[in-house]
Amino acid sequence: MLPSPEPKHRVVILGGGFAGVYTARYLTQEFRRRPDVHIELLSEENYFVYQPLLPEVAAASIHPNHVVNPIRDIVPRARFRWCKIQSVDTERKEVFVAQGEGRELVRVPYDHLVFALGKISDFSSMPGVNEHSLPLKDLGDAFALRNHVFRCLELADIEEDPEEKKALLTFVIAGGGFSGVEMTGELSELLHKCIERFTNVQYSDLRICIVHSRDVVLPEMSSELGRAACRILHRRGIELIMRTRVRAASRYGIYLSNGHFLPARTFICTVGTAANPVVEAILRGGGFTERKVGGRGIGVFCTDRTLACDGRPGYWAIGDNAGVPHPQIEGELCPPTAQFAIRQAKTCARNIAAAIEGRPATQFQFKNFGMLASLGRRRAVAEILGVRFSGFLAWCAWRAVYVAKLPGVGRRLRVVFDWTLDLFFPRDITQIQIPPAQRVRIDHYEPGEIVINKYEIGREFFIVKNGEVEVFQPALDEQPEVVVATLGKGDVFGEKALLEDTSRTASVRAKGPVDVLVMSREDFAAMVGNFPVLDDFFDQLMKQRYPEQALATGPLANRIARPVQLPGVKRSC
Ligand SMILES: Cc1cc2nc3c(=O)[nH]c(=O)nc-3n(C[C@H](O)[C@H](O)[C@H](O)COP(=O)(O)OP(=O)(O)OC[C@H]3O[C@@H](n4cnc5c(N)ncnc54)[C@H](O)[C@@H]3O)c2cc1C
Repeated sequence: MLPSPEPKHRVVILGGGFAGVYTARYLTQEFRRRPDVHIELLSEENYFVYQPLLPEVAAASIHPNHVVNPIRDIVPRARFRWCKIQSVDTERKEVFVAQGEGRELVRVPYDHLVFALGKISDFSSMPGVNEHSLPLKDLGDAFALRNHVFRCLELADIEEDPEEKKALLTFVIAGGGFSGVEMTGELSELLHKCIERFTNVQYSDLRICIVHSRDVVLPEMSSELGRAACRILHRRGIELIMRTRVRAASRYGIYLSNGHFLPARTFICTVGTAANPVVEAILRGGGFTERKVGGRGIGVFCTDRTLACDGRPGYWAIGDNAGVPHPQIEGELCPPTAQFAIRQAKTCARNIAAAIEGRPATQFQFKNFGMLASLGRRRAVAEILGVRFSGFLAWCAWRAVYVAKLPGVGRRLRVVFDWTLDLFFPRDITQIQIPPAQRVRIDHYEPGEIVINKYEIGREFFIVKNGEVEVFQPALDEQPEVVVATLGKGDVFGEKALLEDTSRTASVRAKGPVDVLVMSREDFAAMVGNFPVLDDFFDQLMKQRYPEQALATGPLANRIARPVQLPGVKRSC
């Protein structure tokens, strides 16, 4: 086989959601006869999640694996890199990524860069919501939610305190958009179908509430359909708490802006998003404009109608991390939906091809064929080619459209099979108990084994439990290796990279057999940030270990941030 030629054009796509995966798909079609165009997709998950079906996963009507596809299978002709994107160097046209078990830092060069990183859930404006709510953004969230619901039902079944039982059987959903309404509908179906198997719980004991800031739900659709959805949900006994926001949450329940308190053990929050941290860092670094609404930045790139960022050649932004002018509604932005992300991906791919081949770019157009939202229990609302309808027919249309859009025939068949089984068999109410990931652990090393590699990203902090380790500067070019220190039982290491937000500045290896206690970056930050004695201890330790280095003043914990400084990283091949 002949070796593939050195690529003349490198197109790098950041993110493996709807926007990123579909851009890669359309690009591989555009360039199927151009081996000189290298297409590479970078994402932290090796699978694509079909988010519109997540409420059905949470409600146990679809198996979790059936709504995800391996990215390699969807875009077999693009290069896929499983990694965590760290930052972008626009001067050198390189993306910095952390990859592999050791989180090695690598540079990925590009000529065209597509930002498709989406947004992240962020509930920080509502005290306690981060800690006491369940998000619904990815597969893990849906799976955790499913288990949580069954856990509450099991606990309610054996609970003797009526107040606690009531709280266990109260389910609150914040947000009346697509995901909030679909989740509410699916949850009501799940509870309706499985409640009779819990002998000490009656259907009338259940309380499902949806909290929404506007007059009607589904603001993405017409108000007529929003009202129809409200009627269907209300008839089913779901409480619609409108024109109200969530103010705070605690382990006992949810505090609302209207002064009411809802005692509940299940709180699903579908509102509250923030910029992806990588996008935020790029926007803060200047060079790119952040889209503003009402004078306030909304954490997305400002693109023109060709989807180019600020009209900058070679930079494109699409999907939820882009503020794209709406093609039909003057002065509005495209909504953050999968429909828009997929269509933008097509225009973006076409415009990248046009830029490479010296043709003019086209403007993003969107012909809306319709919108559908499922309300569970065989009901939905739909607007297709201007015709609005609701009920069973809308639900059939919803299922047909969503299954048809699922990538891969195999996945489609699996979902149809799950739905068919659901018609004839009871839902699976097994509550799978997954032990929480152990965040503080003990690692053992044999003599000479490496504990820390110089230049890798600092993700962990270490305490020597038994034995000794050597801190050393590895041999480089003509310079021999230099051992800087030997640390024994009770000594700590690895704090510098976490406190100063840099990559590792030295390597560490086991001198003899050694056991080390390993703590995650997050636990280390929480511990140092909340315990002044430890803050002082690390301040002193840093002064003692690095006397030549003047440290910024202020609590050390404030200096723990995301890794951005990336010296000495490898260049990808
Ligand atoms: C429950 C739910 C139901 C929905 N229902 C509908 C619906 O019915 N109809 C509809 O049109 N829309 C729906 N949406 C909205 C739709 O799913 C989103 O608009 C769409 O997913 C946006 O796609 P995206 O590619 O821009 O972002 P995302 O899907 O968020 O993808 C971002 C990607 O970037 C990756 N990434 C992020 N940061 C990094 C990093 N640092 N390193 C590596 N990779 C990174 C992520 O892993 C992910 O793969 C729903 C959303 C949810 C959550």
